[in-house]
Amino acid sequence: MKQLVDSHCHINFIAYKNDADEVIKNFLHENYALMIVGSQESTSEKAIEYADKYERGVYVSVGLHPIDLVDEAEDTVVMDGVPYTFKNRQEDFNQDRYRKLAQFSDKVKAIGEVGLDYFYFDKFSPEKIPEFKAKQKEALLGFMELAEELNLPIIFHARGEKTDPFGVYDEMFQIIKSVLDNGRKVRGVVHCFGGNLGQAEKFLELGLYIGFTGIITFKKKSEELQGIAKALPLDKILIETDSPFLSPEPYRGKKCLPQYVRFVAEKIAELKGISLEDVAETTTNNAKNLFSI
Ligand SMILES: [Zn+2]
Repeated sequence: MKQLVDSHCHINFIAYKNDADEVIKNFLHENYALMIVGSQESTSEKAIEYADKYERGVYVSVGLHPIDLVDEAEDTVVMDGVPYTFKNRQEDFNQDRYRKLAQFSDKVKAIGEVGLDYFYFDKFSPEKIPEFKAKQKEALLGFMELAEELNLPIIFHARGEKTDPFGVYDEMFQIIKSVLDNGRKVRGVVHCFGGNLGQAEKFLELGLYIGFTGIITFKKKSEELQGIAKALPLDKILIETDSPFLSPEPYRGKKCLPQYVRFVAEKIAELKGISLEDVAETTTNNAKNLFSI
């Protein structure tokens, strides 16, 4: 069996406080590499701390999740019957500090996750929304500038308002396109893709990859996403778990583990009518090429 890459996981999060090293070792026993993704300065630092313990196979993306720019996110997720409370302090974007983080270790292979997230905007008063959107856009542009300076790819995150899941992808497309139209360089992946097929194809035209998580294995409400995974060329697809979230079938509701990326690969093989080996080989090569790992 060919080895897989989990191109996006959060072993740096509190859900793995007690078993991070075991989880990483179990994954690397059978697979090629995983990318631990930061969501703030603190979790980016933690990701570097873990990656630096391993000679190979554990890499890092440093970034500031757009929701943490605007909100004191507090969320309790129950996994395996254990409640994990995530309390994130609101953080303002500081390009100098992220430059230092990115240069701190040669295991840092990407900038992210960064982007636009409007999912919780319904809890704010409407007059705050334009200010918050502007703040996310400004940070995204600042991270894109930093990524170009450091010649790193970007892990893009986008999540729309509950009443408009797709509009945010158009907005992110316009931001990236305008940067490219200015003659600047952008490469990366739109992780945990949740737009429509037309939007996915437009990101491919910009040279970006599209990332799929365990959501494509879900039995309900994932038909459109499965159709997108089926339609897109395999050489533009990355696979990921977004652990500890989004555990695929047959582990829905449990704490997600990076090795469950295999279920994402299996689903893509099934949808495309090709072998798991082909999915493994091509998606692993895609990750190697994008992240230089
Ligand atoms: Zn993530």
